[in-house]
Amino acid sequence: MDIYKSLKEEAYEANIEIPRRNLAIYTWGNVSAFDPEKSVFAIKPSGVVYEKLCPDSMVIVDLDGRVVDSKLNPSSDTETHRVLYREFSGIRGITHTHSVYAVAWAQARLPVPVFGTTHADHGAEEIPCTPIMGKEAVQNNYELETGNLIVETFQKSNINPAEMCMVLVAGHGPFTWGKTAAQSVYHAAVLEEVCKMAHLTLSLKAQTESLPEHIIRKHWERKHGKNAYYGQKG
Ligand SMILES: [Zn+2]
Repeated sequence: MDIYKSLKEEAYEANIEIPRRNLAIYTWGNVSAFDPEKSVFAIKPSGVVYEKLCPDSMVIVDLDGRVVDSKLNPSSDTETHRVLYREFSGIRGITHTHSVYAVAWAQARLPVPVFGTTHADHGAEEIPCTPIMGKEAVQNNYELETGNLIVETFQKSNINPAEMCMVLVAGHGPFTWGKTAAQSVYHAAVLEEVCKMAHLTLSLKAQTESLPEHIIRKHWERKHGKNAYYGQKG
């Protein structure tokens, strides 16, 4: 019996959601699903197109970076996922894509301001963008340092990864996470829409102000606050 069967299935289902949501073409994206009890995650194999994936092709990696179950090599971004699982406690899924609008903001090296309630429903502050990575870090261990860069960006600005589940890596693209692999893909899709809306907003009015704090708080709190009332009970 495969003890990783359900974790592989979770990762597989989340990975095939990437092309379904038009978040990446070819192999430009990957999702992982984390099992905190076993301390392993299942991740997309490297360089395999989405149509050729199956649950059994997911690669199981532990938090020390060892491949513990696989016939294939894991995604080249595995080290980034590993750093985030180690440093951001409570996250159970990570998605990386090259979706167009999110990449455009990452390439412009800009955080995404909170212009409207679509953004505020999913985060009460701007979506952070990391600084560009230095030469030494790139040459040292690029994918691991990408994870470190994300963690440092959150620590320096005192951002809580449980409340801001999205980041833009400067010059590269978005990483998102969530309480499940599926939720991390949902956040990747939300991020792409928010980036597109922000871009269109600025193209209409370059000096657009951020949404006032009282509206940001209202939208964030009604979905995520102590007395949240959005959606159905039960
Ligand atoms: Zn990438």
